[in-house]
Amino acid sequence: MEEITSFEQFKLNKQLLTAIADAGYTHPTPIQQKAIPAIDAGHDIFGIAQTGTGKTAAFLLPILMKIKYAQGDSPRAIILTPTRELAMQIDEHISLLGKNTDIRHTAIYGGVGMKAQVEKVKVGLDILVATPGRLMDVYFTGELYLRNIQIMVLDEADKMMDMGFMPQIRKLLEILPRKRQNLLFSATLPEKVVKLSEEFLEFPTHIAITPQATPVDTVTQILYHVPNLRTKINLLCELLLDEEEFRKVIIFCRTRINAENIYKYLDRKVTNSVKVIHANKQQSTRINAIDEFKNNDIRILVATDVASRGIDISLVSHVINFDIPIVYEDYVHRIGRTGRAYNKGTAISFCNKAEEYHIAKIEALIRMPIPVTPLPQSLEITDTPFDERQAMLMEIDKQKKKENPNFKGAFHDNKQELKRKALRQQQRKANRPKKGRMID
Ligand code: AMP
Repeated sequence: MEEITSFEQFKLNKQLLTAIADAGYTHPTPIQQKAIPAIDAGHDIFGIAQTGTGKTAAFLLPILMKIKYAQGDSPRAIILTPTRELAMQIDEHISLLGKNTDIRHTAIYGGVGMKAQVEKVKVGLDILVATPGRLMDVYFTGELYLRNIQIMVLDEADKMMDMGFMPQIRKLLEILPRKRQNLLFSATLPEKVVKLSEEFLEFPTHIAITPQATPVDTVTQILYHVPNLRTKINLLCELLLDEEEFRKVIIFCRTRINAENIYKYLDRKVTNSVKVIHANKQQSTRINAIDEFKNNDIRILVATDVASRGIDISLVSHVINFDIPIVYEDYVHRIGRTGRAYNKGTAISFCNKAEEYHIAKIEALIRMPIPVTPLPQSLEITDTPFDERQAMLMEIDKQKKKENPNFKGAFHDNKQELKRKALRQQQRKANRPKKGRMID
């Protein structure tokens, strides 16, 4: 097959080629080289590709080519995504690439009122981007006609399944016309995605851009072993003080509480050029924070995995994993926020003793060790408080038990030992002669 080095080699019209040039894309990325001709030829696609590879344009360009111009009232293409942020981002991408066409499109997602979205759908549209739950809600208002769908995309299928969207997707498949083209994209390849692909795709063209869950190679990975939470915070602050190096940073946290606390701490002690996004934040607040970060109005974004999934923010200088994700694929997604398209980036992970287990699993998944860097000399390393140490020990015991169900565990032994000690003390007390009694 002829090697594809320019967009002109695809069957794309002038409107699209101009938009591509205006977007600053000079040559197609590997996934675009492979997916665009296959989609154009009408094949179903099973694509394994991470965000940052250019996969959105890889499916949008042939869709825009197929849809061509505004026609009728109901959508002819539907793109399903796991999160509202991703839905909005894809919708923006359609605006960017379809700007010289009259194609109508919108994104519908949960977390905001449904009325305005139903109104947008009623006006008539050609491409619909949606999260599965909200799509079904809007469908059941009776205002959305889906029998004209010719092409359907399931983006980030792995995340969609993790988030429990399977029932909605099944329901949707019953509603859509049988004769349609299906495109399925996933960053990783768990068994359940393979099953879904078998159920849903017909003789698909397989496109795997990177081996399963391999981080993009423009990302430098660094691992710090940090003993406790307090020292993690000290390290974070120390790193962030270097504003020149840490120009645009996303800090990932496992929980909303951690994200909120870190945000507040940084805002108070380091810089107010920081915002936080997590599922408890209002949708508008989240959108504003992402926009401000994108526009370089703020330097730092603190985020949880769900809230940040799929967000396209280019030129992020650093991703900091304040804690190690326990859904290991999330590591790949997190560090995919940096080194996007053709830019370099650094991903730094903070790992305590109880997280080493997860690092080993992540290293197995990405099939490479994450290089360890010593803590900076200047860093203030604090003692680990008793409660935190106990929690970590307990966690480590749990992990060891998971690996070996017969394992009794250090913490377990400690507990037993404490119990035995308490018992011995009680016995000694009981045996002690009572005061005021005469001994025979
Ligand atoms: P995606 O993997 O779809 O999330 O895309 C990642 C980033 O790459 C986005 O910011 C796109 O705008 C950008 N991009 C997509 N295709 C190209 C291309 N051919 N050349 C340069 N950048 C691209």
